[in-house]
Amino acid sequence: EGMELSRLCVSRRVMVLVNPQSGRGQAMSLYTGSVLSMLTEANISHTLITTEHQNHARELVRNADLSQWSAIVILSGDGLLFEVVVCVINGLMEREDWDAAIRTPLGILPGGSGNALAASVHHYTQAGPALGEDLLLSCCFLLCKGLVCPLDIVSVHLSSGPRLFSFLSLAWGFVADVDIESEKFRQVGAMRFLVGTLLRLASLRTYQGRLAFLPARDDSNSPSISSSTVSHPRSSFRPSVQCTSHMQGQINNQHECTSENTHHDNFLLPKNDSKDHRPADNLLNPIGEPVATDWTMEKEQDFVLVLATCHSHLAEELMVSPDARPDDGQLHLLYVTAGISRPALLRLFLAMEKGTHLTCECPHLRYRRVRALRLEPITKPGVITVDGEQVEYGPIQAQVHKGYGRIICG
Ligand code: ADP
Ligand code: MG
Repeated sequence: EGMELSRLCVSRRVMVLVNPQSGRGQAMSLYTGSVLSMLTEANISHTLITTEHQNHARELVRNADLSQWSAIVILSGDGLLFEVVVCVINGLMEREDWDAAIRTPLGILPGGSGNALAASVHHYTQAGPALGEDLLLSCCFLLCKGLVCPLDIVSVHLSSGPRLFSFLSLAWGFVADVDIESEKFRQVGAMRFLVGTLLRLASLRTYQGRLAFLPARDDSNSPSISSSTVSHPRSSFRPSVQCTSHMQGQINNQHECTSENTHHDNFLLPKNDSKDHRPADNLLNPIGEPVATDWTMEKEQDFVLVLATCHSHLAEELMVSPDARPDDGQLHLLYVTAGISRPALLRLFLAMEKGTHLTCECPHLRYRRVRALRLEPITKPGVITVDGEQVEYGPIQAQVHKGYGRIICG
C-alpha cells in the first residue's frame, strides 16, 4: 500500500509559516532566536511568512503553487498546522494536483500551546523526553536533517458535509471538553491542558453513546508498550543550496532567504500516471447503516472519554499512545468507561506524562489499535474535536489511510 518516496526537487525553498500569536506570543522570538540561525547554518533556504489572522495560512497555501516549495513548515501550535493540512489535503481534493499536493512534506516546530505533533515527531526519534526550548531545538534539528517519512491521514465523516482529513486526533467527552475549554488559558502555554483537566475533573460527567471499530490486524486487545523500532522508507527534501542573504535585522511579513539555485540530484516526484490516488473509504458503510460484520461493537454505554490518535502525543506532556508511529496505518483508540473515580482518572492523566497509563491496569481504560471506527453519541449536547478543532456534534466515523501524506521527521 505504502508510498514510494523519491528525493524531491532540490531547487525549491521551504515555506516557514509563523503564527506570532501562538502560545504565549513568543513564536517570532523563537524564530529569530534559534530557528533562523540553525536553518542558515544548515543552508536551508526558506521564506518566512508571518500569519496575520486566523485562516491567513489557509488562504496563503490555497493560492500557493505548491510545486514551488520543497516543504511547508509551521512554527506554531497544532492549530496552524491544522489550517495548512485542511488546505493541502481537504482544500485540494478537487484540484488536479491533489496527488502532488498531499505529498508536500510538512514540518512542525513547536511554538504554540498545543504541540502534539512536534512532541510526537520528537518521540519517534527515540531520544529522551524534551519540552519547550529543547523540543524546539530537536524539531529544528530534524528539519535541518530533512528526512521525510510517510504520514497517515485519517478520513473523517460527519453526519453532514464532505469528509475531512485529519492527521492527529479525534476526541469526544473529557478530552474534547478540555481541549475546547482550555483555549482561554493559552497564555499559560502547554500548562493549559493541566489547568483544563483539573477544572474538568471537578465537574466530571459521563457521555452515553455507541462505539464500534475495526481492529487492526496486529491489535493485541491488550495494553502493551513495547517500544518497537520501525524503519520507514525515507527521502530527503533538503535543498542543498547556499543561503546568501543577510538575514539580520528586517524581518518582514515575507522574508526571502535568497539562494543560488544549484541543482544536484534533481529527482522529481514520480510522474502522475493519471490514476486517481484519492483514498476510497472502503471500510466505512454509510452512517445510519450497520457497520460491516468484521467490526467490533461495544454495547451502548456511558463513557468518560473516547479518543483516537494517529500519534504518540496529544500535547507535550501527554503521551497517550507510546507505540504509535507516523505511518503505522492505525488509529490508537483509547476509551474510558463510566464508573472511574476522580482520583483514578487523575492518575491516568498523570501517568500519561510518561506514557505508563496502559500499564496501570485501570479496569475502565481500554486501548485498541484500529483501522476504522464509528462513534454515535447519544448524550446531548457535547463536543467532538478533530485535531483539536471542534466539529459538528453527532455521529462520526473515520478510516486511516496509511502513509498518504508526508512529514519531516527523524
Ligand atoms: P496555540 O497552540 O497557541 O493555540 P495555534 O497554532 O493552534 O497555537 O494557533 C491558534 C490559532 O491562531 C489558529 O487557529 C490560527 O489560525 C490563529 N492565528 C494564526 N495567525 C494569527 C494571528 N496573527 N493572530 C491571531 N490568530 C492567528
Ligand atoms: Mg498512525
